[in-house]
This record gives sequence, C-alpha cells and structure tokens, in this order.
Amino acid sequence: MPLGELLRCPTFKEKAKKHPDHVHYGLSGYPVLMAADILIHKGELVSVGEDQLVHLEMARAIVRRFSAHYGPLFPEPKPVENQSARVPSLTGEGKMSKSDGKGTTISLKDPKEVIEQKVKRAYSDPLRTHKVKPGHPTRTGCNVFHLHEYFSEPEEQQSIQTGCQTAEIGCVACKQMLATSIERTVAPIRQTYEQLTDADIHDLLLMGKEKAKVSAQQTIQEVREAIGFYMY
Ligand code: SF4
Repeated sequence: MPLGELLRCPTFKEKAKKHPDHVHYGLSGYPVLMAADILIHKGELVSVGEDQLVHLEMARAIVRRFSAHYGPLFPEPKPVENQSARVPSLTGEGKMSKSDGKGTTISLKDPKEVIEQKVKRAYSDPLRTHKVKPGHPTRTGCNVFHLHEYFSEPEEQQSIQTGCQTAEIGCVACKQMLATSIERTVAPIRQTYEQLTDADIHDLLLMGKEKAKVSAQQTIQEVREAIGFYMY
C-alpha cells in the first residue's frame, strides 16, 4: 500500500490535525490492518460505521491490486446497509466515539441512572432558550431530536415534534423520554452482558479463536501459493 495513499486518507488527516503530537505508524497503517482483518477471512459483507467507509474502500483497492498481480483470490468487501452507521454524539459534535470521552457516548453497559444523567446533559436546540419558545425538532435543529430518531418509536417522535413546535413540552421532559427510549434499547444487551461469567467469555473467545485460526491458516496458504512463496 503506497504511503502517499495512507497519508491522504481523510480519517488520518483529521486525527493528525486533532492530535499533532501523536502522529504515529498505527494511525496511518490502521486501514491496512483493517483490510488484513477482513481479507484474512475473505469477508464479503462488513458492518462498518459511516466514517469507516473510506477504510473499506482502501481494502477494496488492496484487493484489486492483489488480483492484478496474483489473480482473483479475494472478494471485494462491501459495506452492510446500516441505518445506524453514524449515531450522533451527546455533545452535538460528530458521532458517538469512545476516544472523545465518556460524556459523548452511551455505553451498552451503562445502567439506567447513568443513561439518565448523560442524556440530561446532552446538547439540544441552542435557539430554544426558554420553555415557552417553540423549538426546532429536526435532525439539524436539535441533537436530542436527532437521537430520538434512532431510539424512539415513530409515534413518540411525532408527538415530540408537535409538542416541541407548539412549546407544549420542554427539553427536560423530552430528554427524559429519550433516556427511557435508550434504556429500552440498551437494557436487554446490558442484562445479557451481566449474566455472562468470566468463564463464559473465555469459552466464547476460545471458540472464536479456533474458528478464526482455521480460516486464517487456509487463506495464508492460498496467498503463499498465489505469490509463489513457500515455507519449507
Ligand atoms: S423539546 Fe426536545 S426536540 Fe424540542 S428543542 Fe427541546 S430537546 Fe429538542
């Protein structure tokens, strides 16, 4: 993979700009590592967030380059159609991202009270300065409303939209409704997580490792044959 292409990658440029003192190999080489993770199992469909699409495109470019030199060994991976590819951050800036701090994200392990606290502080419509003023319940007008689109039922979204535009509901109540909707989504995942013991997790990892090892060894063997690299 030419270094120039990696350094032109938009996610690399964005991170390098944000953390100029921490520009290291891992940052630029990440898309190659991701391509290796996908291709070693000949992945065809990959579930990625919106910001990872550019990396997937690089994986496809690597496949095309490999095919041109050594023949069609790998399928070109495609993204899974995913409506939740980019859940907005609680702060209203970018997506929910663990690397941007705990205040921006809801964790799938967060208890109900923590979800409520976080949502209470979420950024909402900056133009709605008083409860008596109507708000702007759209994706771009209010971050909280945008989050309702991911977590609340269509009827709830409709009633919030009407209530907000007529100033019948305030942001405090609206955020409480959002916290309830998020809790409804997160609770079954959290409960499953809480039921797992360390031994269960260990067994799952071991099972995955054994499966992955067989698939990876098979691919490596095929790659060696394709490029004429044999180990004796
Ligand atoms: S009521 Fe809800 S949708 Fe309307 S401005 Fe407040 S937080 Fe946003």
